[in-house]
Amino acid sequence: MHKILTIGEILVEIIATEKGDGFRKATPLIGPFPSGAPAIFIDQAGKLGQPCAIISRVGGDDFGTVNLERLKRDGVDISGIEVDPLATTGSAFVRYRPDGSRAFVFNIRDSACGKITLDERMTRLVGECSHVHVMGSSLYAPSVVESILAAIGIVKAGGGTVSFDPNLRPEILKSPGMREALLTVLAETDLFLPSGDELFLFTEAKTESQAVAELLASGIKAVVVKRGAAGASYFDAGAALSLPGFPVEEIDPTGAGDCFGATFVSFWLNGASPREALEFAAASGARAVMHFGPMEGASTRAELERFISEQQA
Ligand code: ATP
Ligand code: MG
Repeated sequence: MHKILTIGEILVEIIATEKGDGFRKATPLIGPFPSGAPAIFIDQAGKLGQPCAIISRVGGDDFGTVNLERLKRDGVDISGIEVDPLATTGSAFVRYRPDGSRAFVFNIRDSACGKITLDERMTRLVGECSHVHVMGSSLYAPSVVESILAAIGIVKAGGGTVSFDPNLRPEILKSPGMREALLTVLAETDLFLPSGDELFLFTEAKTESQAVAELLASGIKAVVVKRGAAGASYFDAGAALSLPGFPVEEIDPTGAGDCFGATFVSFWLNGASPREALEFAAASGARAVMHFGPMEGASTRAELERFISEQQA
């Protein structure tokens, strides 16, 4: 069976309970919630029973423990998470603006996961994996970029595959070397999972079909475009299909793309048809937004099956 690897940030998320623009005045908060895009992704994969691992670092603090316990409980191999007693676990403060957009204060680069290296033990773990998933948000520091590119090299040399979700936040796009790193990962990508306009990040194309055609011609095997509440579309050389979003009440959109991605990748790797993978992924994204907290809405396969059959009833 395939084993999925991801490498990147592990954080706690602390959420303002009242909408507003940023954090310049005292405001009520709730948290810590386990978070970090690759952590949410891998937690969702683990919940599906998919063998999976994450390489990252946390501090020897409660914020680290919150994440380690959740990932372990949900079936993720956490042997690649190093606990650094001298460092602090990453964090993100998030506040929703009235228009639905989000303001973040991140502590990632200077946190425990700001440095990730593939030592001998980590390299052995990479060798157990047949698929790497890359979050663009994880390309925040040179050591992490280096580790991700090295892991891609090892997995691809063994005949494995790569999926890539650009997952870009404006706050992160300014990181030095970010664009070059994104392009390097894209060149190794088999399955590309952009959200909305991220489809156009790496192309001059003006229309969606031109952009998709260009990406597929460059060697990418499949493109899945995420469209929030409006659903998602799948494209490969021979097929194009779209599914609407499931009609649900959105409580907290954070984590939808990560849960969607993990579910799509798990089904895709295990030989599901694009339609089945897209339907389960859309169910996973929809269930994610129904729960408050980034990782709180991750689903088991039984929960997805029940949700889909309830929706069809
Ligand atoms: P993230 O904010 O986690 O990075 P994203 O922008 O990568 O998310 P979205 O498009 O927001 O990804 O969500 C992924 C998928 O989840 C969508 O394609 C859709 O299938 C489902 N989804 C997201 N929001 C909703 C919603 N409000 N109602 C129903 N389904 C949703
Ligand atoms: Mg979104």
